Amino acid sequence: MSDPSPIRAVKGMNDVLPDAMPRWHRLEAAFRETARRYGYGEVRTPLVEPTPLFVRSIGEATDIVSKEMYTFVDKGDDMLTLRPEGTASAVRAYVEHSVNGQEPVSKWYYLGPMFRRERPARGRYRQFWQAGLECFGDPGPQIDAEMIEMVVTLLSSLGVQDIEVLVNSLGSRETRGRYRETLRAFLQPHEARLSEESKQRLITNPLRILDSKSPTDQEICAGAPSILDLLDEADKKHFDELTQTLTALGTKFRVEPKLVRGLDYYSRTLFEIQGKGGELGAQNALCGGGRYDGLVKELGGPDVPSIGFAMGLERILLALPNEANVRSLDAVVVVTEPSMNVKAAVLLKSLRDAGLTAEGDLRGQSMKSQLRRAEKLGARTVIILGPAEEARGVVQLKDMRARHQEDVTHAEVIAAVRTRLAMDAPIDGATR
Ligand code: AMP
Repeated sequence: MSDPSPIRAVKGMNDVLPDAMPRWHRLEAAFRETARRYGYGEVRTPLVEPTPLFVRSIGEATDIVSKEMYTFVDKGDDMLTLRPEGTASAVRAYVEHSVNGQEPVSKWYYLGPMFRRERPARGRYRQFWQAGLECFGDPGPQIDAEMIEMVVTLLSSLGVQDIEVLVNSLGSRETRGRYRETLRAFLQPHEARLSEESKQRLITNPLRILDSKSPTDQEICAGAPSILDLLDEADKKHFDELTQTLTALGTKFRVEPKLVRGLDYYSRTLFEIQGKGGELGAQNALCGGGRYDGLVKELGGPDVPSIGFAMGLERILLALPNEANVRSLDAVVVVTEPSMNVKAAVLLKSLRDAGLTAEGDLRGQSMKSQLRRAEKLGARTVIILGPAEEARGVVQLKDMRARHQEDVTHAEVIAAVRTRLAMDAPIDGATR
């Protein structure tokens, strides 16, 4: 016997229905356009990768690898993982296709879903969308500043308000190793007061304690030594030039020595952009990124310095002003009686062939209900087909903004719809 209860989506994984889509499309188009302007080309990699790719790059002791990956053994006994982020895959593809031998600098962008088995909350999901950039082959620091400036420009062009840019330097791998020991030595005397999670991290990954949300952990960390004091000369020069370039570009930022972020592969420049507005709440990290100079080599490629960032699309949407999400149509065709349905179907085809967005409701509903639906669909014009008009070789064209109605001939109808559209000032800059 079949089970009649409805099947629900996996917890933490969301449907996006067509009514919510215009905001997504605007965000995605703005990201693609900005990336293109800064010289980035799109890369698409598989959603599934061999598990060791993430273990080796993100790091065994990180939350992502130790707790959050969707890992499974496929029917061929391969251990596979749904990608939890985009950088590891991009680096794998970069190495696999020997891109370094073809050009000195490669600028790639990607956009797609990522998977992490986190505790779902507003702004934190198990499938979420990221858009990101990777730049291979440029040691910076100007490219680091350019990347940060680009995200800030993108976010402000979208209308995201109250953002804060945090920057830090993690130095080289050696510096990080030295800092890990310095921090461990500083935290050890406070071990008893640390949260359970931080006690664990004291052994596995003490830098992450700086990220802890526990008030006591934060209080203890307030006096912690700064990694910036341990940077060697070359790292310090890189960081100074980064901050100078950001200042020259007019990008506001705050140096935050406690910014560490959750992935192991970072070196030198690290940044995060936080938002305060909209419906963000606690999940206020909009975007995170940094330099990963050793990663390409670690994954079997040449020694190529690289930097990247990723932003969470759901979080950006939560941070955006809550504009109305109306779908809009250029024309809705309405029939006064079902005998006009075939004519309506033909007119709809010619409107669409002309590149216009058009809808019609040919289910035999009353005129009143068809007009109500046209209003709801955001129709710019309504074209009414009836036998009396047909006999005169015309249709009625209703301008829904001017609330004006007139007869137009069949030959003129497309031009008449277009004239109404041309009269409208662009509402959101979207191209038609
Ligand atoms: P990360 O890859 O961890 O550096 O994250 C980069 C960005 O992706 C974050 O700033 C968030 O905007 C977004 N993000 C990360 N994890 C999630 C999640 N579980 N749900 C929604 N967005 C996320």
